[in-house]
Order: sequence, then C-alpha cells, then structure tokens
Amino acid sequence: MFLTADPKDILDGKITDVYFERALKILKAKKVNPVVKAEFIAKNLPKDWQWALLTGVGEALDLMKQLKIRVRALREGSVFYPYEPVMEIEGRYQDFCVFETALLGLICQASGISTQAARMKKLAGDRLVMSFGARRMHPILAPMIERNAFVGGCDGVAVIKSGEVINEDPMGTMPHSLILCMGSTVEAIKAYDEVLDPKLKRVALIDTFQDEKFEVLNVAQALGERLFAVRFDTPGSRRGNFFRILEESRWELELRGFGHVKFYVSGGITEEDIPVLNPVVHGYGIGTSISNAPVVDFAMDIVEVDGKPLAKRGKWSGSKSVLVCALCGARKIAPNNDGDVSSCSCGGVFNDILVPMLDYGKQLVEQETPPRIRDAVLQQAKGLSL
Ligand SMILES: [Zn+2]
Repeated sequence: MFLTADPKDILDGKITDVYFERALKILKAKKVNPVVKAEFIAKNLPKDWQWALLTGVGEALDLMKQLKIRVRALREGSVFYPYEPVMEIEGRYQDFCVFETALLGLICQASGISTQAARMKKLAGDRLVMSFGARRMHPILAPMIERNAFVGGCDGVAVIKSGEVINEDPMGTMPHSLILCMGSTVEAIKAYDEVLDPKLKRVALIDTFQDEKFEVLNVAQALGERLFAVRFDTPGSRRGNFFRILEESRWELELRGFGHVKFYVSGGITEEDIPVLNPVVHGYGIGTSISNAPVVDFAMDIVEVDGKPLAKRGKWSGSKSVLVCALCGARKIAPNNDGDVSSCSCGGVFNDILVPMLDYGKQLVEQETPPRIRDAVLQQAKGLSL
C-alpha cells in the first residue's frame, strides 16, 4: 500500500533518526536523564525571505501532549525572524529525545508552505489566490499542504478533503479533460452551466483548442451574464507574452460588452509573475510554487541542562524570550526572566510572544480555527515587506 507512516508510528516515536534511539539507549544504560530546555530556531530563511510564518504548531502540540514536558511557542501563524526561538521544550531529555525528527518535520514543511502562500497573497493583493498544488505532492499530505496554504493567505483550496479540514467549500473551475471529452469548449461550459449547482460560479477554461481571445468570446457569447470568469492555463510552448494575450483578450471582451468576465490564470505561476500579471488578472491558481515551497530549516538545540545555560558552538545558550513592543512593533531576543520585561524606548510595553502552550499534557492555549489564523496572518502581513 502507500509508503507512508501511520499516525501511530509518529506518536510511538518510530519516525525518528536512529541516532536518537541509540542515544536514548546509552542514556538509559548510564542513568543519565537531565532536565533540559531545547529551542527551535532557524538561523537562515530560504531564498531572500526576510521573515517567515510559523505553522504546524497545532500538529506539534498534538504530538507533544502525550509527553511529560512543558512547551512554550509562538502562536500558530506568527511572523518570526532568523535566530528568534519559535518553540521551547522543557523536560527530561529521555522523555522527548526520539521525537525531534518528527517535530522538526511538522513545523519545517508547514512553515515553508504558509510563508510562500503569504508572500503570494501579499503580491496578489485583493485578487483571488487558490491553492492548486495538491497534485504535485503525495496525496496523504494534501490536507496538510492546503490547510497551511490557506492559513498563509490563500483564499481557497482545491481538494475536497482539504476543504473539510479547514471547513470551507473547495474551489475549482473545469479540467481540460472535460473539454476534450465534450469535444468543444463552448459545449463544455454549457454543460457545466446546465448540470452544476447554480450557486457555483461559471468559470470556463479557454486554452484547450483555439486561440484564447477567440475562445473567450465564444464562451462569453454562449453564457452571457452567467459567465463569471475564464481561466487561462495557456501552455508554456504557446505562451509567448502572457500579459499581452490577457490584455488583448480583455480588449476584445470589453469591446463587445462582456466587461464583467473576470480573468483567472494558472500554470506554473511564480512570485515573479504576479506583479507583472496583476493589472489584467482577478485570480490566480497556484500549484507547485506553494505546495513545493522551500522548507524552513529549523533546528532543535539544547540551551539549558539541569538549570544551567549550555549550548553547542554556534548557538546562544539559555532560555529566551522573544519580545515584541505592543506599540511600535520593535523586537528583541532576551533572556527568559519569567515575565520581567523592560519597556521599549518608544514608551510601549514588550510582550513575550513565546507563550506557555503545554504543561505536562495540559494544553494551555486553545488552537484557533484556520479562518481566524488566516485573518491574523493577513493583518500581520500588511506591515511586512517582501
Ligand atoms: Zn516600542
């Protein structure tokens, strides 16, 4: 069957690099089991990213609530910067040693996807951004990928199961296969209009058989006011100047009184494409760029052993706070002094955004719903530059 782990394998610590299991064996044999604090940080971010979003915390907490540990973490969807700890575990090392691999995997991939989605949504502004990339990844991951694309800022997800996970209706248009089976783009959109629920927006795919500008007019004439949008998925070999194809199609539609028809584009859309296409596009279907987003390279490092600061070369020792000024947004990393935080030079108050989340199995903070996390992400993203 599928080459994937069972969730129980993850909870049982089987998704671990074997060296952790060997370390555990040695520590048990030698009866060494210090209380440690271990933090998760990224020293660098992918590409030229200046900031990233932390996601995957909810899944990480689900894994960690079975362990005898305390956890402080940023809230799901928080912005963070390099070197800021995003999560800290406190507990006896033997109790969580074998979970490092899985915990990193949960937050590294999710954070990469949500950050990439946030960047693309920020570039697209008010235009629709749909997650279309499930097909590029193992299907067992589709709900995880699309949920993180959504909380990062995508307006919708394509896969039915992902829609269930975020409690939103999935979004989609029509596949080329429908048009090929029907033999005509116009017949396909007419059938779509006839068969499907009237509450679904009528969106025709128009790059299958003929030149886009003529197909756009054909479907607009066939459906009139009921045609909500057309999707250009023009193949790369035909694309030439994609912007000019869209601009020309817009001109022809306007000239004939079909100005209401919106333009969606899909097919290998990257961050670089969005600012170029924005003037002529109302929505983007984004696949690989988001589902195959670069991962955030978090590492987990011990920073305190039996109450004493201790870290490997290249890491700052000691438990830390990530302080953010409530007034001006200034940030700094400071020693964790149990709530003793100075005030900012602007007169505002610093808050530690690493908040206690888990206390020996007891969850201290309720996880927000995906739409609420997304709203908070969009709000934060307004003040950030790319
Ligand atoms: Zn301030």
